[in-house]
Amino acid sequence: MRVILAQPRGFCAGVVRAIDIVERALEKYGEPVYVRHEIVHNKHVVDTLKNKGAVFVEELTEVPDGAVTVFSAHGVPKTVVQTAQDRKLPVLDATCPLVSKVHNQGKRYVQHGRQLILIGHAGHPEVEGTMGQVGAPVTLVQSEAEVADMTIPTATPVAYITQTTLSIDDTKGIILALKKRFSDIVGPETTDICYATQNRQTAVRQLAEVADVILVVGAKNSSNSNRLVEIGREVGVPSYLLADGSELRPEWVQGKSAVGLTAGASAPERLVEDVIAALRRIAVAPVSVETMDGKKEHIEFRLPAELRNDRVPAA
Ligand code: SF4
Repeated sequence: MRVILAQPRGFCAGVVRAIDIVERALEKYGEPVYVRHEIVHNKHVVDTLKNKGAVFVEELTEVPDGAVTVFSAHGVPKTVVQTAQDRKLPVLDATCPLVSKVHNQGKRYVQHGRQLILIGHAGHPEVEGTMGQVGAPVTLVQSEAEVADMTIPTATPVAYITQTTLSIDDTKGIILALKKRFSDIVGPETTDICYATQNRQTAVRQLAEVADVILVVGAKNSSNSNRLVEIGREVGVPSYLLADGSELRPEWVQGKSAVGLTAGASAPERLVEDVIAALRRIAVAPVSVETMDGKKEHIEFRLPAELRNDRVPAA
């Protein structure tokens, strides 16, 4: 059995930075460090950080006074920032800079008097963060059908932004429907879908050309991992999401000679290795592992100033 690894796969620069922030905060300030929401959508990452002394909470009410607090890579609404300021909590913001860029873009459109439309998934923390950052009402759309149902008068000056982890194909149809409905709509010159999401989606399409089945390592609540599974299926290759090797089902790979393997942006490489080990355990023929040619990523994001020098985190 050939196992073909997608390139690139796994951790993106935003996830690396977010995990680094928690680890360095623990080193610098000692445990516990409180993290609002899963730092990234991966249980293994969260559990590893828990073992090092991070405490994960959903709301700031669960954070004791004075405790060092980290905001997750998905971003937070302004109300959360304000609450942290009111409580003088020392905060380290692990919001991915590419998510912050979308926030800023949304704020600019609002400042220019445009009503804002966000293309994204209801309930996703990035969407909640973005809606709560722009300082104005935001209309969320999730499908072309929802565009048809919108009640915003067509003459209204509107602008759109998108969640960073959607697929270009998903957003294309919605953007087209919005453009048909609002003739002077404006949006970003390139989409807001981030480089890591795009690169992993391109790689999974390439993988689909040579693989009989595609396995995507990632969490069920990871938006970008789910998109990778959807893309594999759209191009006609059976594709499955699995958190780690223990979730591998033998029937997925039975009779397949080429197994494509990739990982969402929040899944660590050790889980890819774990799936390879699981494949080796169930394979009837010898397993060979190869990596596809693909884009090399060199993007790195700077850590917050507090972790680059000896300043205490801002209250
Ligand atoms: S997937 Fe993209 S937007 Fe999300 S954390 Fe990674 S680099 Fe940032």
